[in-house]
Amino acid sequence: MGGTKCVCTLGTGPGDIRAQEILPTREPGTTLPAIADLLNRWNADVGTLKAIGVAAFGPLDLRRESRTYGRIGATPKRGWANVGLLEFFATRFAAPVGLTTDVIGAALAEARWGAAQQLTDFAYVTVGTGIGAGLIVNGKSVFGCHHPELGHVRVARPAGDTWPGSCPFHGDCLEGLASGPAIEARAGMRAASIPVDSPIWSPVAHALAQLAHVLVVTVAPQRILIGGGVVSAQPHLFPSIRQSFAQSLNGYLHIPAMEDLDTYIAPPGLGTRAGPLGALAVAADTHAEGTV
Ligand code: ADP
Ligand code: ZN
Repeated sequence: MGGTKCVCTLGTGPGDIRAQEILPTREPGTTLPAIADLLNRWNADVGTLKAIGVAAFGPLDLRRESRTYGRIGATPKRGWANVGLLEFFATRFAAPVGLTTDVIGAALAEARWGAAQQLTDFAYVTVGTGIGAGLIVNGKSVFGCHHPELGHVRVARPAGDTWPGSCPFHGDCLEGLASGPAIEARAGMRAASIPVDSPIWSPVAHALAQLAHVLVVTVAPQRILIGGGVVSAQPHLFPSIRQSFAQSLNGYLHIPAMEDLDTYIAPPGLGTRAGPLGALAVAADTHAEGTV
């Protein structure tokens, strides 16, 4: 479930997608019943669904002990604040339901099928309408009192860059500098129309490199995957991010995984399918939990 669309997938993995339908994200009273109708249809088609995985935009309350477990938190998306996502599906279907964030889901998909196989510590970063990171440490998604919101980390700015940023909460946090809407606000045009050699990209790469710096000095991941609509359409950002990252770290820390920056900071192995496959990965995990 994304801010603009919900990609519903029936299958067991990237090599076995039986059906996929895209539904627009409208108000919950419209969108959730539409998803339920589709799942009911699939339930009838395939016999019984073994598990339902939901990887959704947040913030989500994922603390099992919480009174508001499985609910969406405060969000500017009309009608979605406080919606009980987990409850909605759990009360309508016999299959076990798993819920996590869009980026944790994508990280799980990368671990299962993509560029993070065999890794215990890595980050999946999405740069799209917003910026988020699914952080896996010691094989588990990092989770304190809340899931991380690394898109809102404060980053050092390039010398002389004083553009105020577009985050309504923080101005020039990472999301306020490098998300699709931030880039478009700064450039005054659609991101897709900005030339590759425009000076607009340099501070974007700089800001994303700052996130990589923060990740390395906090959890020292084995790999940092960066996907999402902005970076997947602008692959020229990768060399700039790597270069800016190396400059920022300035020789500090010698981690073997970091020796080859081309694989250390890389696109997701599943490409733009990482997000949608995240829900399948959650379903697979939920099914496995139920059978141990
Ligand atoms: P979402 O954030 O809803 O999951 P995406 O990851 O696809 O969706 O990201 C959407 C963002 O990608 C939009 O903000 C848009 O500005 C940006 N975008 C779309 N096409 C391009 C492009 N060709 N170059 C750079 N940014 C793009
Ligand atoms: Zn912010």
